Amino acid sequence: MWRGGAAETAGSSAGLPGNPAVPQTGRVTFRLLPGIGLVLPANAGVLRFGMTEHAAQWTASTLADIRVDGWMCGARWTLSFRYRDVLVTAYACTACPGDALGHLIVERATRAPEAAAGISLAFGDLDLFGYPIHELAEVLEPSDRELLLPADANLRSTRHLSAVHLDACEGRRREADRAPSGAEPSAR
Ligand SMILES: [Zn+2]
Repeated sequence: MWRGGAAETAGSSAGLPGNPAVPQTGRVTFRLLPGIGLVLPANAGVLRFGMTEHAAQWTASTLADIRVDGWMCGARWTLSFRYRDVLVTAYACTACPGDALGHLIVERATRAPEAAAGISLAFGDLDLFGYPIHELAEVLEPSDRELLLPADANLRSTRHLSAVHLDACEGRRREADRAPSGAEPSAR
């Protein structure tokens, strides 16, 4: 549709992530960048994989009141905040290198929502919180589907996603798999 224009602006940003080409019509948009992190709305910055706990707190607190006392199994530290109708959690697990930010969760306040969220969660041109799961499953590349949709997601569901996880380290998946004993016995 407006593909040509989008490509031009993308090229001129010299590979800088987080240049929000989304029309600023008052629509609040979080943007997921695999391998990079989560671009916050309102020019609040980027929750970037590899940043320290302190830097993540600093960044998130420019957007919202943050909570840092949440407990999560297997996490070195967590921070979370609510913004409009989403809850964002950032954390480092015990496997995250240097205790740096390695995991992000963006959740809807509603469980198994049946309508689009009041904000957008952008992934490329897609709004992950704007379409039912079966529509997302149709347009996402298989690798993105695996990355973004829960492993047990019903790809025919007419409901919307209630949460999207983005991980820079494998710790969470490894824990979910209950670490086969053959895995390297990394020092604890
Ligand atoms: Zn981790």
